[in-house]
Amino acid sequence: MNIKSRKKRLERLDKKHLWHPFTQMKEWCEESPVIITEGRGSFLKDITGRWYIDGVSSIWVTVHGHRKKEIDTAIKEQIDKISHSTLLGLTHPPAIELAEKLVQTVNPQPVTRNRELSRVFYSDNGSTSVEIALKIAYQYWQHKGIREKKMFVSLKNAYHGDTVGAVSVGGIDLFHNIFSPLLFKTYNVPSSYCYRCELKRKHPSCKLYCLAKMEDTLKKHHKEIAALIIEPMVQGAGGMIVSPPGYLKGVRKLCNKYNILMIADEVATGFGRTGKMFACEHEGVRPDILCIAKGITGGYLPLAATMTTEKIYSAFLGRYKDFKTFFHGHTYTGNQLACAAALANLQLFKSERTLKKMEGKIEILRNGLSRIAELPNVGDVRQKGFMTGIELVRDKKTKEPYPLEDKMGVKVCNIARDKGLLIRPLGNVIVLMPPLSISNQELKKLIQITAESIQEAVC
Ligand SMILES: *Cc1c(COP(=O)(O)O)cnc(C)c1O
Repeated sequence: MNIKSRKKRLERLDKKHLWHPFTQMKEWCEESPVIITEGRGSFLKDITGRWYIDGVSSIWVTVHGHRKKEIDTAIKEQIDKISHSTLLGLTHPPAIELAEKLVQTVNPQPVTRNRELSRVFYSDNGSTSVEIALKIAYQYWQHKGIREKKMFVSLKNAYHGDTVGAVSVGGIDLFHNIFSPLLFKTYNVPSSYCYRCELKRKHPSCKLYCLAKMEDTLKKHHKEIAALIIEPMVQGAGGMIVSPPGYLKGVRKLCNKYNILMIADEVATGFGRTGKMFACEHEGVRPDILCIAKGITGGYLPLAATMTTEKIYSAFLGRYKDFKTFFHGHTYTGNQLACAAALANLQLFKSERTLKKMEGKIEILRNGLSRIAELPNVGDVRQKGFMTGIELVRDKKTKEPYPLEDKMGVKVCNIARDKGLLIRPLGNVIVLMPPLSISNQELKKLIQITAESIQEAVC
């Protein structure tokens, strides 16, 4: 079959049988999709042979590029031993060795055993890692005999995944409102979205007034609050909202003061995306529970982990008859192939000095963004490392947003696609999040295409 008829056939079958995530399928079926058949480094190839820059790391997961030899080899070698056996009642080397490496990676500085994030509970995606964190936090206080601590604090604009528990602590109305009757109640506090501060303050003269508002809630309700959940430094799906300096540290202090567990959801920010291995490191913060997924396997296979301190873990210890067991688990938990990929991913951070090499590229991105910020319909640009959001506005002075039905973000991304760059927006926010391994030249190209696409879309 020639390429043209193969593409046609696949397109027809896609439209007949697939239901794509976060996609209005009616519109999807009116357009012609890009069918990806191959990847290499920072690039993806479609079925017609055209190459594109993977500008959002295949939705925030690719770390060292596609077809990275070391990860490919690690998976192939593991396949020759075994691809999957369970962690229920059994164990295996990749899960054990990865747990050790993860503990070393998330605790770069030595700390007392009780506060070290020393325990790894595996699952297979970011949402489940969050569900697990919420259930551990809840059950922890039950075991501690502080039964009233059943509530969670969540942030406006937060995104923690799409399962019902994760949606309960989410704060994006467009995604979450319709499900509200299904969700558990939380204390929802303002986020640190400085460009559109819901408290009508200005940074830095606000002196982090959003923290003061958070404290009001904690002060009033801490006796019922089990935990607070936060995406450290950057609220990703909410629009790449970067928190101002001191904010994260302030949240940690408040959690300490009011005896509330702090859950850091580093599903998006983890594994170098913000320029440090984990975003919490920017402010020297240690969470009590840490959720990691997306970049953990270098963007190869589904895997996630929820890590806790020894203090939390030990509250679950007892005889079987005490029923303190954490009754939770997913079938593919700790899958060997995924763990093998994750081990190779961590090894590459060392051998290739990935974070060090990022420094210059973060500067290139910063320079490029400062030029983009001057464009007439760009209201705000936000960057933490390689996590970037460009917020488009109809009116730069009044910050009037484009109505969502204008699909301005989608328009920009469609133009970019025709120019050889694949990116996906969040509403009016253009997201750039290339693989950490992107070259200087590729990065400059990415910025150039983005700037041109914005200019063409808004005129
Ligand atoms: C993507 C994401 C999740 C959900 O991860 P999935 O693997 O899609 O379930 C959770 N939290 C954050 C911060 C994310 O960015």
